[in-house]
Amino acid sequence: MSAQLIDGVLLSQQLRAQIRERAAALTAAGKQPGLAVILVGEDPASHVYVRNKVKACGDVGIHSVLEKYEADLSEAALLERIAALNADPAIHGILVQMPLPKHINPHKVIEAIATTKDVDGYSVLSAGELMTGLAGFRPCTPYGCMKLIESTGFDLRGKHAVVIGRSNTVGKPMGLLLLQANATVTICHSGTPDLGYHTRQADVVVAATGRRNTLTADMVKPGAVVIDVGINRDENGKLCGDVDFAAVKEVAGYITPVPGGVGPMTITMLLMNTIESAERTK
Ligand code: NDP
Repeated sequence: MSAQLIDGVLLSQQLRAQIRERAAALTAAGKQPGLAVILVGEDPASHVYVRNKVKACGDVGIHSVLEKYEADLSEAALLERIAALNADPAIHGILVQMPLPKHINPHKVIEAIATTKDVDGYSVLSAGELMTGLAGFRPCTPYGCMKLIESTGFDLRGKHAVVIGRSNTVGKPMGLLLLQANATVTICHSGTPDLGYHTRQADVVVAATGRRNTLTADMVKPGAVVIDVGINRDENGKLCGDVDFAAVKEVAGYITPVPGGVGPMTITMLLMNTIESAERTK
């Protein structure tokens, strides 16, 4: 049997329609949501990401400010800009595009963003809020994965979820969100001796390794929900995820494609966090 596809493009469109309505309501009340995006340097991929984020804001009625700086911008000058944006009432979210040039300490920069405006959810305080169940900002990619699982109607309560990958931006927060949803969670990583042993028991698998074919069909329990976060290229240069999609879709119950699964959700959840931030502002 072939798995049901979880369409991240469609879900994104539906969520963005809701975001547009919430943005319009805030704007009508004199509080248009605003996102500041800071880009330092000339990394071509970062330029594309930033352009997409700014465009997405415009599409849903979020005011955006794009600040581009040369690669030789000093750390002090960047911190000064962040302090100014922290104090700006028209800005509800601040995003500094990574990677930063080598002379700038990314941790210092992330921690300089006010927790109330940390819509990427990367700061230590935001991570602590997630850890302790406080209402902070959820990192966008895992937040998007939760929405994708939710869209299937699958009830996570009491189910076994396996996350492959333990990065601070994807794997760990993903594990915490699944735990919050009352799943029993296992987090695997490159030191996990027998990955298949864990994934074969999983009702939900989230693969976030950045390695092609990390999850193959023999590693999946029939009917499982499979979420593929990975972004890789195959031998022909074609975009692919961490999951052997063609084979795994014959075993899984639900599966996200790459592209068109998790990818579109990440920016959507950034927009969602910006709206949530504006709504929280008195
Ligand atoms: P990282 O490289 O920071 O982390 C990868 C994790 O995978 C590490 O914890 C690593 O283990 C683990 N890992 C690597 N190989 C294996 C393996 N063979 N078996 C088990 N675990 C393994 O990556 P990110 O978390 O930042 O991103 C993961 C992927 O998701 C990348 O492809 C990235 O491009 C993509 N991504 C996609 C997004 C989207 O919007 N679709 C957004 C963010 C990321 P260890 O800790 O032991 O090294």
